[in-house]
Amino acid sequence: PLIINNLNKTFQIAGKPVDVLKDINLTVEPGEFISIIGPSGCGKSTLLRLVVGLERGFSGEIRLGEDWIEGPGLNRGMVFQEARLYPWLTVEENVLFGLGKEENKQDKQRIVQEHLELVGLAGFAKAYPHQLSGGMQQRVSIARALVNRPQVLLLDEPFGALDAMTRITMQQEIIRIWGAEKTTILLVTHDIDEAIFLGDRVVVMSKLPATAKSIIPVDLPRPRDRNSYEFVKIRK
Ligand code: ATP
Ligand code: MG
Repeated sequence: PLIINNLNKTFQIAGKPVDVLKDINLTVEPGEFISIIGPSGCGKSTLLRLVVGLERGFSGEIRLGEDWIEGPGLNRGMVFQEARLYPWLTVEENVLFGLGKEENKQDKQRIVQEHLELVGLAGFAKAYPHQLSGGMQQRVSIARALVNRPQVLLLDEPFGALDAMTRITMQQEIIRIWGAEKTTILLVTHDIDEAIFLGDRVVVMSKLPATAKSIIPVDLPRPRDRNSYEFVKIRK
């Protein structure tokens, strides 16, 4: 499991220390899909950035199984609100960029192609980001985040910039990928419907600093069988 124990994070803002996260405790089981909601500025992105290892200087512990998280690693992937692709690289080069050291060039090529298929962009390997729609670009960044088959996928408002129809397509896409890859997912969203629709549990972060008390995991009654997509079909 992903274990977060007594996590504290303080930022210096305008020369003053501000507690952003205070005594956060959260355990996420392997393969669990957690949605995180909460008001702007409550520390959701900070929490994800800490878990992915982009943010240093915290107290408490973050562990993935036996491994302590102290920096970025191939066992975690992250998708941001904007796709953050390199405009001068093709789609496949962007995905390749996320791939850790693989000995064989052919293996690399195959892995990238598999992941483009996974996000439904097999035919766009040679395209450049500006030739894709926003939703397609976001799929590329999902492929890039998944290319090392991470244990944990962190999604920070990944569909925030997308129109309603594309958003629904992408929600179903992420459920499908989740089923195929058996990844643990932490999704931050401002869309409460989306949080409930996608999550096994919804984590609510309230006031700043977010404290142990203000983090309320809510268990959702829903089939846990990842091969049963019935609740996806209901949306059609
Ligand atoms: P939103 O919903 O708007 O994305 P959030 O919940 O993701 O908000 P964070 O981005 O985690 O919020 O920010 C939480 C707090 O930490 C804010 O008060 C912000 O000003 C502060 N903060 C975030 N990053 C930094 C930083 N690099 N340096 C200083 N303060 C920061
Ligand atoms: Mg944020």
